[in-house]
Amino acid sequence: MSSTRNVIIVGSGPAGLTAALYTARANLQPLVIEGVEAGGQLMLTTMVENFPGHLDGILGPDLMAAMRGQAEKFGAEIIQGNVTAVDVRARPMTIRTAEAEYTTRSLIIATGASARLLGLPAERALMGHGVSTCATCDGYFFRGQEIAVVGGGDSAMEEAVFLTKFASKVTVVHRRDTLRASKIMQDKARANVKIAWLLDTEVDDIQDGGKGEVTGMVVRGRQTKERTVVPVSGVFVAIGHTPNTSLFRGQLEMDANGYIVTHDGAKTSVDGVFACGDVQDHLYRQAITAAGSGCMAALDAEHYLEGIPEHLHASIQPPPATTSPS
Ligand code: NAP
Repeated sequence: MSSTRNVIIVGSGPAGLTAALYTARANLQPLVIEGVEAGGQLMLTTMVENFPGHLDGILGPDLMAAMRGQAEKFGAEIIQGNVTAVDVRARPMTIRTAEAEYTTRSLIIATGASARLLGLPAERALMGHGVSTCATCDGYFFRGQEIAVVGGGDSAMEEAVFLTKFASKVTVVHRRDTLRASKIMQDKARANVKIAWLLDTEVDDIQDGGKGEVTGMVVRGRQTKERTVVPVSGVFVAIGHTPNTSLFRGQLEMDANGYIVTHDGAKTSVDGVFACGDVQDHLYRQAITAAGSGCMAALDAEHYLEGIPEHLHASIQPPPATTSPS
């Protein structure tokens, strides 16, 4: 039996685990290398109410555990490990972790993007308890409340405007006195009476008043040096995302912000390499769109493998028995 895998999936968020489920059910015996942030950004979330099929919502970590279990049930092999080097031009391709080297005929990249954070200790501690990096995911929990958005780019403007659908007041806190956002987005935000502005201001701390949930934030005027407590029950950090693509730099086409460019579904600039989820999507960034693109990557990989001669000789084991024949 060849030790070269049919497909290796790097990353274990909704995109990677959906790709694992589909490739496992296609009998391709996928290997998932889960990465340092196993489970992806949903592991930092509490209640997820917008993933279809969960009438009463589901906790982010529970949703990821279910996706993982479902992929494993159909034979996906999931290993802990952090990929340290890849060569996507070699045939077969090589993937190295600190512990081992793997070869594969196709590769699905689902390494996601990491939301940039302010770096405050309270930010991590209160993530999912009033601190959020996703207005679409969490805005609904702040109905009638006063909240803040940190950042001065298009994301911050978009999130602030979106959040006024729920919150009674949204304070935008930005570290400079001019916004980075495009004029059209600035104009839209400035015209919204529910949005207040704290420019030239930095966030020094996020408070929980011993309650384990956000109660306020400490801000500091950059010129005045004056520190003030702003009572808010939510802080949305919208200072950008960093796609986790450094491993692939120089090997795959990327856009100016480092996101992998995909075309015709999940195809990248290199044959046999597919990308899905936030690593190639800076627009939608939802668990459900990531999962959908993971499905696309799996189907594209399956189609690609059907067309290469080595695949015909690859030893394929029968999938593990399941209770349902579907
Ligand atoms: P961005 O344009 O990089 O803006 C990030 C903002 O966060 C900047 O205002 C920056 O401040 C601030 N920031 C960064 N690090 C910070 C820190 N440590 N502390 C405090 N503030 C910090 O990111 P983005 O807004 O996510 O947008 C990314 C790309 O997506 C852009 O090209 C944008 O146009 C695009 N986008 C478009 C739309 C749309 O058209 N609908 C919506 C969202 C995003 P400084 O200004 O001082 O650097």
